[in-house]
Amino acid sequence: MSERVIIVGAGLAGLTAAYELTRAGFDVQVFEARNRVGGRVKTVFLEAEQHGELGAEFVDEDHTALMSYAAQFNLTLEPALKFPDDLGYYIDGIFSTQKTLSSQQQVSLNDAYEQLDQLLEQRADPEQTLAQWLAANSITPFAHKVISQQSYGLYTADPDAIGAGFFAYSGTSGDRTLRIRGGNTQLTSAFARFLGERIHLNTPIVRIGQKQQALSVSLKTLQGQQVEVLSDSIVVTVPWSVLRHLSIEVGLTQAQREAISYLPYGVSVKTLLQYPKRFWQPSSFGILVTDTPYQTIWESTLTQPGEAGILAYTSSGKPSRNVTEFDVELAQKTISTLYPNAPSASASATHDWGADPWSRGSYCYFAPGDLKNWRSKLPYFAGRVIFAGEHTAEVEYCGYMEGAIRSGQRAADQILAFRE
Ligand SMILES: Cc1cc2nc3c(=O)[nH]c(=O)nc-3n(C[C@H](O)[C@H](O)[C@H](O)COP(=O)(O)OP(=O)(O)OC[C@H]3O[C@@H](n4cnc5c(N)ncnc54)[C@H](O)[C@@H]3O)c2cc1C
Repeated sequence: MSERVIIVGAGLAGLTAAYELTRAGFDVQVFEARNRVGGRVKTVFLEAEQHGELGAEFVDEDHTALMSYAAQFNLTLEPALKFPDDLGYYIDGIFSTQKTLSSQQQVSLNDAYEQLDQLLEQRADPEQTLAQWLAANSITPFAHKVISQQSYGLYTADPDAIGAGFFAYSGTSGDRTLRIRGGNTQLTSAFARFLGERIHLNTPIVRIGQKQQALSVSLKTLQGQQVEVLSDSIVVTVPWSVLRHLSIEVGLTQAQREAISYLPYGVSVKTLLQYPKRFWQPSSFGILVTDTPYQTIWESTLTQPGEAGILAYTSSGKPSRNVTEFDVELAQKTISTLYPNAPSASASATHDWGADPWSRGSYCYFAPGDLKNWRSKLPYFAGRVIFAGEHTAEVEYCGYMEGAIRSGQRAADQILAFRE
């Protein structure tokens, strides 16, 4: 009889672990609470067969694990943005691009980024939030504002909460950003097709425990019944923002329990607005950092055909609390201040990840001192219960699809090692 593995969650971490373990001959069952696979990967189609991403969107050029699965499934990666050339700023009511910034602004931004690079080089994790660090390092008001907005844009976290040492990792991605042609669900669907009936949708896990020699999970069926399923190993990929509300009756250390209940998550509302015409043509819209409640705006349709175009608006952290789901009006108002002739949107879609019961946030971040105080010391397993998901990845990949995939690979390797 082949060894049984239960995977909790069919996001990229769970799908990767399930794929690798199925190929290695394990008896794999994946239990997923939602009625779809992909978790925080959610491509939506609007009119004229154009699509956008309500969750994960960009692939950095050093995201090699994702790239290798994309190649296995014959998916194409195409250019999305180029840093810093495609960056624009709308700060204090003034629009500028990388090219039109004053030399003083350029110098002040470069200086701030250099100081952040130094933090990263030293792997320093000062007991300072990003806001405190910016205030303590005589960063100019313009650079202060841009970097604070990037805390929302890159980490969906408030600058007065995220650790400066963790924020410094934002500079590690390459300068070319890619997308999966056809949308990121191309990848999650390819995994799902391979796994077939091993994936059980609409089956939330409510408890992880032990029964005699075996591990067990209790899941809720669509009919509301609670069913117990036994296994030799379990891979738990649910975000800890959700896991902390489940019953875990296996031997975790005090440090593991504390980390699960404590790990902070950013919040984010992402809205896609489709316009009948790309009013920003002929140039590409690029990526706009703003000090409005929608801190970043970019084009989703750069390489998609058709006259219409989609802009993606994200609002994160505390400012997003004033942005309710489907707040198309606010997004429209934001863009009209910049492009007074912008037409009304013809279609829209939105997702509030903080309000989503199966993510309860967008992705994890680390507060001041967390990296050195506990993050690097925590084991991501307890016996044959393995924890995976973006939040368990190497720090530079936390909050990325790449992190989820790498953590799934690591979980599969750990289970393979039990067999040896
Ligand atoms: C707005 C936003 C923008 C992002 N942008 C990017 C980007 O541009 N590039 C990038 O690389 N990454 C981005 N990310 C991050 C990326 O989406 C995640 O890092 C990655 O998808 C996480 O995968 P995962 O498998 O760890 O978690 P998830 O995708 O959350 O998978 C966990 C699964 O567990 C399921 N689950 C939860 N509770 C239970 C339960 N009780 N029982 C059973 N199943 C359960 C969930 O439904 C989910 O399907 C973004 C995320 C968000 C929210």
